Amino acid sequence: MTIEIAHIRQAQERIFPYVQPTPLRPSHALSERLQAKVSLKFETMTATGAFKLRGATNKLLNLPEDQRARGVITVSSGNHGRAVAYISKALGIRAVVCMPEIVPPEKVAGLRDFGAEIVIHGQNQDEADAEARRIGQRDGLLFVSPFDDADVIAGQGTIGLELLEVAPQLDTVLVQLSGGGLMSGVAKALKSIKPEIEVIGISSLHGAAMLESIRAGKIVTVEEEPTIADALPGPIPPDNRYTFAMCRELVDDHIQVSEDQIAEAMAYILHNEKCIVEGAGAAGVAALLNHPDRFKGKNVAAILTGDNIKVERALSIIAKAQSPRT
Ligand SMILES: *Cc1c(COP(=O)(O)O)cnc(C)c1O
Repeated sequence: MTIEIAHIRQAQERIFPYVQPTPLRPSHALSERLQAKVSLKFETMTATGAFKLRGATNKLLNLPEDQRARGVITVSSGNHGRAVAYISKALGIRAVVCMPEIVPPEKVAGLRDFGAEIVIHGQNQDEADAEARRIGQRDGLLFVSPFDDADVIAGQGTIGLELLEVAPQLDTVLVQLSGGGLMSGVAKALKSIKPEIEVIGISSLHGAAMLESIRAGKIVTVEEEPTIADALPGPIPPDNRYTFAMCRELVDDHIQVSEDQIAEAMAYILHNEKCIVEGAGAAGVAALLNHPDRFKGKNVAAILTGDNIKVERALSIIAKAQSPRT
């Protein structure tokens, strides 16, 4: 199966009762600084504070009746887990979120508040993943991938539709790239409507598995290092069905951002947009701030993908950052 614009349009209609369009706001500060027309898409404004609600909602609303009755399982302690937990509760579907012992207690509590059943198992992500698949088999729960799933990709793609509905004159869109669910959906929507639009993937310098895989022409594993953009690194499983091929085909260019650049961008966004975002959420703005000449004169949008970070942690990162304030 390939994902087409029709799937993304169906997703848009399907998720509307649960996920309304998010604001696309012109950034005066960035536009002045880059001598460009820069807008920011506030995915921080969804009910769970990140775009992942789009994909999870499309997935769960599209489940066959018998699977809906049995429920779903996933392994993410981050934005995907929050999204699955939240929308499962809203729809009355059983959701189990499996995670390793290393996940901080406040993240576990946050997920439990959203209504998920929590299973803590194993020393690392791989062990939690194996346990989730085992429980899924045993209880008939469907495993929901955070990115390599047609319904999830179509759900994330609704961002692309919204961008061109509000700003048909956009010529460049920056999209954070990790597992590639966001990129695959958004790029498919954008390029189907406006083939000449430029789509740029934004990766961290740390653990850019998709970018390295695209460069190598095959799925590769990269060393994972801790990063303040903790939603960005993560392996691409070798049985990938959609996102590697779609990202390879649809992404025009790539920019990688450093830890310092992400921290600066978080500070910049707080000072100028009055918004706290997590590291991954600031990566697009980090790319803009550090490549001003590349975007001069362009009509460009970047996505604030999420705000899932403790305020104290965000403020401490921002306090230490070298901030280009305006
Ligand atoms: C998941 C996530 C990303 C990356 O999305 P992929 O579909 O995995 O590429 C970027 N930013 C935030 C905040 C996320 O939660």
